[in-house]
Amino acid sequence: MRKNIAVFLDRDGTINEEVGYLDDLDKLKIIPASFEAIRLINDAGIKTVVITNQAGVARGLFSEEFVNEVNKNMRIALLRKGAVIDGFYYCPHHPTEGKEPYRQNCDCRKPAAGMLLRAADDLNIDLARSYIIGDRYNDMEAGRSVGAKCILVKTGFGQSLLQDDGPDRPAPNNQPDFIAADILEAVKWILKGQR
Ligand SMILES: [Mg+2]
Ligand SMILES: [Zn+2]
Repeated sequence: MRKNIAVFLDRDGTINEEVGYLDDLDKLKIIPASFEAIRLINDAGIKTVVITNQAGVARGLFSEEFVNEVNKNMRIALLRKGAVIDGFYYCPHHPTEGKEPYRQNCDCRKPAAGMLLRAADDLNIDLARSYIIGDRYNDMEAGRSVGAKCILVKTGFGQSLLQDDGPDRPAPNNQPDFIAADILEAVKWILKGQR
């Protein structure tokens, strides 16, 4: 069976507005461009997979149950406008904050690739032909490490990353393949390459 292509999507700052720790359902504001962007991926026969670091769980700010609740609300809000997410994966861990078992050096917190590898297994994904869209360099690094193409969006933290000379500068191998204004421009760039 031919393997699937996927577009991995960071959640906060990429699909929904970056609001710091999203600890209240009222703070879930989907970026309007996300609806069309995800529909376009669906129409191209490509899988959509959300992969999100949620260290707020380790920090005791909210529960895993709450993360699942946010993801469910997101899934439903997108579906109402015809946009389908094929899988949600989150990392609740942090290497130094909180209590065990959430305090651990896991293999899933981006820039580690654990969530991408799990999704690849679950959904029969060819990672080398896949893509990741995110607003931080840890998204780029996670994608790069599995051979996916990486697109940095200027929503969320993206714009400030590009302006900063701060500590969050990318290692040379974490440079994005493309920088997009938002998720919709990112998806259009991906689909151009598919023709
Ligand atoms: Mg983000
Ligand atoms: Zn983890």
